[in-house]
Amino acid sequence: MNRVDYLRISLIDRCNFQCQYCMPEGADLAYVQRQDILTQDELLRLIREVFIPCGFTRFRLTGGEPLLRPDVVQIVGAIARLPQTQDLAMTTNGFRLAEMAQDLYDAGLRRINISLDSLDASIFDTIIGNKGKTRWQQVWSGIQTAYTVGFDPLKLNVVVVPGVNDHEVLDLAALSIERAWHVRFIEFMPIGNAGLFGDRGWVSSEELRQRIRARWGLSEGEVRGNGPADVFQIPGAKGTLGFISQMSECFCDRCNRMRLSADGWLRPCLLNESGQIDLKTLLREGRSLHDARQAVQHLLDIKPDINFKERDPGTEGIYNRTMSQIGG
Ligand code: SAM
Ligand code: SF4
Repeated sequence: MNRVDYLRISLIDRCNFQCQYCMPEGADLAYVQRQDILTQDELLRLIREVFIPCGFTRFRLTGGEPLLRPDVVQIVGAIARLPQTQDLAMTTNGFRLAEMAQDLYDAGLRRINISLDSLDASIFDTIIGNKGKTRWQQVWSGIQTAYTVGFDPLKLNVVVVPGVNDHEVLDLAALSIERAWHVRFIEFMPIGNAGLFGDRGWVSSEELRQRIRARWGLSEGEVRGNGPADVFQIPGAKGTLGFISQMSECFCDRCNRMRLSADGWLRPCLLNESGQIDLKTLLREGRSLHDARQAVQHLLDIKPDINFKERDPGTEGIYNRTMSQIGG
C-alpha cells in the first residue's frame, strides 16, 4: 500500500459546463449551499493544521470548476507558499484559463490538467451540453495560453465515450507528438447523472493502446506520474500518453489519495465513503484540531481496508453522485 500524502480538494461543486457524463442539463443535483462551502480561511487552516501534520504534502485543486471560485488565485498562492507543499496542481475545464493562466502561474501553480474531450467544436459542445454556444475555441485558447505561460507538465484529460469521441483517439493522441503535452485517456465511468451517455458503456484503455500502437507504436514512457495513470509514449514524441483505467483495472493498491469536498467532507475513496469525516462541522463547532488530526489519522490507518470495488453495504448511493459532487 502506498503512502497517502495526496489530497484532492474540491473548491466548489458548481460548474459553467454541463458535461453529459457529470452534470447534464436538467439533472436534479443537490448543490452545496454557499454558506456550507469551506471558506478560504477554513480550508487553509485545515491544510496547515490538520492535513500537513498528518503527512499530506501534495495537493490538487478541482471541483466542480475550480476557476469559478473568486478567491482561487489567493488559495493557490497560500498553498504554494507553504514550505511543506511539495506539489500543487489543478484540474480545470479551461474555459477561464486564457484570462487566468498568468495569475495562477504567478501565484505558484505549475502543474495543470485541462479537460479536452474533442477536437471537433460541435462534438465538444454536445459533450459539455452547450445550447448553441461554441466554447471549444475558448478552451483551446486557454490551453495555448497555459502552454505559453509555462505550465509544465500540461496534461489534457480526455474521457472516452463510445460512439461520441472514441473515433478521435488518434487525433487526440497526436497532440503529444510535437509539444510536451501529456494526453490522458480516462475510461468513462457510468456513475451519477451519466445523462445521454449513461448506457453507452466504456472503451478499455487496452483497446485504445492497441489502436495507437497500430498507428505509431507505443513505448512505455519514462515519465511516471504520482497517480493511477499508466504512462506510455509514442516513439519520438515530446509528450506522453496516460491511461486511467478505473473501469478495467483495480488500482486500489496504488492509491495515494483522499478527497476533500467543497463542504468539508474528507473521503478516503472515489467510490467508497466508509469512515468519511465532516471536518467543516468539526471546525465550526470550535472543536480542537487535535480531534480533527486524530480522526484523519484514523482514516489513514483504515484506508488500506477501504476498497473501490468491495464497498461497504449501504454505501451504494455514492454511485448516484457525479464527479463534480465527489470532487473529481
Ligand atoms: N471541472 C474540471 C474539469 O472538468 O476538468 C474539474 C472537475 S471534473 C469533475 C474532473 C475530471 O473528472 C475531468 O477530467 C472530467 O472529465 C472527469 N469526469 C467527470 N465525470 C466523469 C465520469 N463519469 N467518468 C470519467 N471521468 C469523469
Ligand atoms: Fe464541469 Fe468538470 Fe463536471 Fe464537466 S466534468 S460538468 S467541466 S465539473
